Amino acid sequence: MGDTQALLARRERLLGKNTSIFYETPVHLVRGEGVWLWDADGKRYLDCYNNVPHVGHCHPYVVDAICRQASMLNTHTRYLHEGILNYVERLLGYFDDSLDAAILTCTGSEANDIALRMAQAVTGKTGVIATNFTYHGNTTAVSQLSTRMPPVGGYGGHVRHVPAPDSYRPLGGTSGDVFAAAFTAEVEKAIKSLEESGHGFSALIIDPFFANEGFPDLPKGFLTGAAEAVRKAGGLLIADEVQPGFGRTGDNMWGHQHAGIVPDVVTLGKPMGNGHPIAGVVAGSDTLNAFRKAFRYFNTFGGNPVSCAAGMAVLDVLEQEKLMANAKYVGKYAKDGLLRLAEKHSVIGNVRGSGLFFGAELVLDREEKTPAPEIATRLINEMRKRGVLMGKLGIHQCATKIRPPMPFTTENADLLIGTLDDVLTAL
Ligand code: PMP
Repeated sequence: MGDTQALLARRERLLGKNTSIFYETPVHLVRGEGVWLWDADGKRYLDCYNNVPHVGHCHPYVVDAICRQASMLNTHTRYLHEGILNYVERLLGYFDDSLDAAILTCTGSEANDIALRMAQAVTGKTGVIATNFTYHGNTTAVSQLSTRMPPVGGYGGHVRHVPAPDSYRPLGGTSGDVFAAAFTAEVEKAIKSLEESGHGFSALIIDPFFANEGFPDLPKGFLTGAAEAVRKAGGLLIADEVQPGFGRTGDNMWGHQHAGIVPDVVTLGKPMGNGHPIAGVVAGSDTLNAFRKAFRYFNTFGGNPVSCAAGMAVLDVLEQEKLMANAKYVGKYAKDGLLRLAEKHSVIGNVRGSGLFFGAELVLDREEKTPAPEIATRLINEMRKRGVLMGKLGIHQCATKIRPPMPFTTENADLLIGTLDDVLTAL
């Protein structure tokens, strides 16, 4: 504890106040392997939170690929190198044929920043639509879209927010077609408003899995109407795959495939290099060329040979270890476990998600569906004490965020569900 206080004080002195940190008693991690993490006292934690170490913490195959390339050459993309070409070619193989070119960056924020500028280059307009409970990154342009920390001076006139879909409390008061039509109508209204404002409409940017919004269970075809409205108005549909990408939902490689839409631009990040900072934007070559013509663009570290080796190794491990199929099987197994807990603990109002991104929404009463964010906070702190790391998120900040590394097993799921049961009983 003394050590924790000293580290916290040093952190605040060196990194500033209000630097994000998890848990009432923060965890001091020193080592990771697979789905496990160890703190400085040697205590082991089951990682049910981190999607960046996608194929498992410190996967030896990825570490080896990084080390080998780092000891051979690392430079930027103004020289010829086959690493970036081999990687982009391989990556594009997982997309619809219309998405046939890519730009590599270092963060998801940069990728989304580029996506917005691609939409500007193609349409000549600047208006952007996002949901009212989203996060797409930390550059000046994309932080304009975040509703959690509104920008200084207010939102630019070019931004419109539409209500984030909430399958537990669907817009229009019912689920299915009415819910989807209500979302489409909001998008159409926002497009009209942007057109009337003089900014014009350039893009709708969404995470097709709506992860930060609380991963609602959406009916098939939910986004079809919104996608049609975007195309009709001459705008671009940007899918932010930073969270659902790379097979996490279990049934598809990408969240937009899970949602049944083909976007114009796709942005990637977090899991792409298993912790190594690689991210990117995938688009049709016409869109990408329009962007290059308008802005050129160079990113010193984006697409360097070491990053591409890391990205390639992640794809290799995903395939070799059949991790997407694992996400599907283990995700369903764990979700069934949560559903059993819901029979016993009335605080669980709703269980949802797909593959290895699932969770429970906690409520004070099931009738009124009153959100229970304080209980969610207590729950994740108790879980941490018992050696299971997870988080909370969503519009009401009361949905558990369970998004473990992809090699998560049914035994790991048993430990998660058993510990949740103990904590919910104690609460
Ligand atoms: N998009 C989404 C949906 C995210 O959740 C995040 C990060 N949490 C980002 C973009 C930004 O990615 P990065 O932190 O790599 O800039």
